[in-house]
Parts: sequence; structure tokens; C-alpha cells
Amino acid sequence: MSKRGILPLVTSVGPWRDAAYKAARMRDVVSPATGEVVAHVELASAAEVDKAVQCAAAEFPRWGGQTIKRRAQILLKFHALVESHKDELIELIVCENGKNRVEAAGDLAKGLETVEWACSMPQLAAGRHLTVSSGVTCHEIRDPVGVVASVVPFNFPFMVPFWTIPIALVAGNCVILKPSEKVPLTMQRAAELLFEAGVPAGAFQMVQGEADVVGALCDHAGIAALTFVGSSRVAELVHNRARAAGKKVLALGGAKNHLVAAPDRDVPMASADIVASFAGCAGQRCMAASVLITIGEQPELIDAVVAKAAQLRKGQHGGCVGPVIDCSSRDKIVAMIDAAVAGGAQLLLDGRSWVADGAGWWVGPTVLKLPESMREHEVVRTEIFGPVLCVLAARDARQALEWESLDKHGNAACIYTQSGATADYFARRFSAAMIGVNIGVPVPREPFSFGGMEGSLSKFGEHDITAEGGMHFFTKVRKVTTKWTTTPDAPPDAANFGGAM
Ligand code: NAD
Repeated sequence: MSKRGILPLVTSVGPWRDAAYKAARMRDVVSPATGEVVAHVELASAAEVDKAVQCAAAEFPRWGGQTIKRRAQILLKFHALVESHKDELIELIVCENGKNRVEAAGDLAKGLETVEWACSMPQLAAGRHLTVSSGVTCHEIRDPVGVVASVVPFNFPFMVPFWTIPIALVAGNCVILKPSEKVPLTMQRAAELLFEAGVPAGAFQMVQGEADVVGALCDHAGIAALTFVGSSRVAELVHNRARAAGKKVLALGGAKNHLVAAPDRDVPMASADIVASFAGCAGQRCMAASVLITIGEQPELIDAVVAKAAQLRKGQHGGCVGPVIDCSSRDKIVAMIDAAVAGGAQLLLDGRSWVADGAGWWVGPTVLKLPESMREHEVVRTEIFGPVLCVLAARDARQALEWESLDKHGNAACIYTQSGATADYFARRFSAAMIGVNIGVPVPREPFSFGGMEGSLSKFGEHDITAEGGMHFFTKVRKVTTKWTTTPDAPPDAANFGGAM
């Protein structure tokens, strides 16, 4: 991808994009590992959003009118196509996002799990049916909501778009995706595979672009529902704007996930898991560990964490730490480490040594030990989105929970312990919605739904995003109450058959 010469052009995708179409603006797609431009992406405008909505609305009666089984069959074929193009997609993810190859394969595999769940929707989407009174039944009719939009971040170029695309499509909606302008290549190829599988051109479209395109999606009256995944600041803006335009909205935001180590944790297992959580994907996961609270001083655990993290090497092979997405992200991470050190943090492992080491945007795993006086410092409260772990020692379990609950992101938390009672105590009291027990990246996989706590900085809006949460979000349900006779136990007579008996 990075060879000199003609670079790939990533385009918006939709029936409206004919030969005469020319995008107003272009943007470079840059490899975070090398800093090289690897492609260009055309940026759409509000006018293109309108054309995409019109095409989606025109297709909706046909796509939404097919059986859910037929739509699921198409997604099943897409699943097989992704499997047979796995290596190509992995290389695109590695190239544009910077993940190492094992992480890129994980991005793909996790995205496919949501496709699998969506393919099971014919079994799950049937509404309930119950006799509620003598001769009276209630049943539900579940319908797609119409034209829907999804706006996604850069950090999982395949998985996060596929949190919504398969569920929305199988439910019968026409989908307009706005990929991250930083990583548009993977979804360009995935879109081709969706069409090859049989998704009609108007049922799935992509508008490439930046904030103005997202604003146009929020405002467009022809879009019934919108999901967003990204930073908290933008999630709140998008939620409020799309809500004001009358849409159903689910906007997932950023995170600051806390891990708590009880004194009875298993040091080898916990230390390996903590390192994988904070340094995996270069810390660019909304489920990454950010703050480790030990109950009491735990030098043995911290030494093990630092020793394991110090062994990690930069690179894009399995087990290595990849680059962060861009220069501004790297500079922000370094500035946060600088600020923490200036504020009194002890630097147990300094990843800043990777910064000047060659091309691309690299920061090594960094571990900061903070005094209690820094527990409200910005390094503890602000999402860093890099491989940085802050360590604080709490007096006891109560204080650990109190500090965790000071965080307003409400996304994920984890307890390391060998005691079921301790695990249960924390699981019931953490302020976050997704809880790990000895698992620092506690992603609830299907059939469980993914999403932070209502009313927190990680979730604005209704429902969770995957599995049943997604099905509820992308459908609307009517309840039908039916009565055919006031004498349900009487055999049908001539009157019942309109005089035909
Ligand atoms: P981002 O908020 O910068 O961008 C996300 C999307 O919003 C992109 O498509 C971008 O083009 C668009 N956007 C950017 N600024 C905008 C604006 N002012 N108005 C409207 N749209 C705008 O996020 P990012 O840097 O791409 O991704 C990293 C963030 O995503 C982190 O905060 C991470 O925690 C979060 N994230 C959250 C989850 C979750 O499930 N909660 C999952 C993955 C990532």
C-alpha cells in the first residue's frame, strides 16, 4: 500500500455517485507506523448526504419488505466472503490503523461475531404472542425503523462498523455509514464484499467525510436513527444534535477504565492481563485499562507489570506494540505523561523513548505511580487513549470503589481476586457497566450487549449497541391486541363463517 506512484483512492459509495461526480475535497490517509501517505480519501458534503438518504429511502420498501431470513442469508454469505478475504483485510487494518497483525485479526474476528449474531436474528426477532384475557391475544410486530446512519471511530476499522451494520441490515433498515476519515480503506473493501454477497446498492452506502458530514447526518429529516461511537465530547454533541432533529440516537463515548487489584490476586495472571489491557492495541481501545488501584501497596504486582511491559517491543507483529494513530494523538499522550511527572508521579516505565526513534507515531508502554494527592489529576480523569497506566494505592476496598466511582465515564472496570465473594462485592458496586473478574478487557460478547452505563460519559442515548440492544435500537415494535369473539369457547357456527356453514 505504501509504494510510491498512484495511491488508492477511497470514495464514498452509493448509487448517486456516478461518473460525473467529483468530490469537493480530498484528505490523505497516513500509515501510523511510517508516517507515509498510503491513500487519499474523497470527502463528501451535506449535499451528498442528502443524495445518499434519497437513495436509501427509495430502496427501503424493497429491502425492508424482504423476509428477515432472506436478509440474514445475504449476511451469511458476506461472512464467508470475509473469511476468504481475511488476509487482505488484515493487511488493510495493519496499514491504516497500525495494529499488529494478531490484533488486526482480532478486529476482524470480533466483527464477524456480530455478523453471526445478526444471522441468528430470524430466530430472535419474532415478537411475543400471548393470550392475555379470555378470547383476547396480544402479539408484537417488529419492523425496521427506516434509513439509519452509523458514525464510527478509527480504533477498530472493521469491528466497530460491524457492531451496527449487520444488525441494522438484517432488521431491514437501509444503512448509511460514515467511516473514520483516518481509516477508510478497510470499510471500502468490506463494502465491496457486502455488495458481492447481495446487499443492494441503496441498502448500504458510505459517505466519507469529517465533522460537517456528521452534522448533516444528524440534521437530515430522512434519517430515523443514528448511532455514534467515538470520543465523549463528540458523542454528546452528536447525541444532542441528532436528538434535536427527532432521531432515535445511541452515542457511545470515551472511557477511563479502572482495574482494582485485591491483595489475594494471582500475580502472574493479573500482571499479564493488566499489561495486555493497557498496552494492547497501543492503548487505543475504549476497553483498555487506564488506572490500576491496588488495595494496599503491592510492589510484587507492580514490579511484575513493569517487567512484562518493559519487554514489549515496537512493531506490527503479534506480541508487539503498534503505533498510535497520528501525530496529534502521540503529542497528547506525551504531554499527559509530562504533566503527570511534573505533578509528582513516579515514572516506573517511560515510553517516551520510542517517540524520536524513527518514522511514524510511536509511544511505548508507560507506567506511572501516583501519590494519593494526585487522584484527581487530569492524568487520572482524562482519557489518554495510549499505552499509559496510572497506579494508585487505596487504603481498602471502600476507598478503591470510591475512587472508581469518581470517574464519570461509566464504561468498564475489573477486579483481580481469587475470592468469589470479593469479586461479587466489586461487581455489584463498580460504577461502570461492563465488569471484568480477572479480565481487564471485559467486552460482553454476543449474546450479551456492549455499552457503558446510562447517563455516563461513555453512553448518551438508548439501548446497548450490539446483540439484543442493537436489535431493539434498529427496530420498532407494535403491539396488536386482538379479539374475534366474545364467546371464545363456543364452536364456530354458521354466523362465524359468514353464513357459509
Ligand atoms: P472521534 O470522536 O474523534 O471521532 C469519531 C467519529 O466522529 C469520526 O467518524 C469523526 O469523523 C467524527 N467526528 C470527529 N469530530 C467531530 C465533530 N466535532 N462533530 C461531528 N463528528 C465528528 O473519535 P476517534 O478519535 O475516531 O476514536 C477514539 C475515541 O472513540 C475514544 O474516545 C474511544 O474511547 C472512543 N471509542 C468508544 C467506544 C465505545 O464503545 N464506547 C468504542 C470505540 C472507540
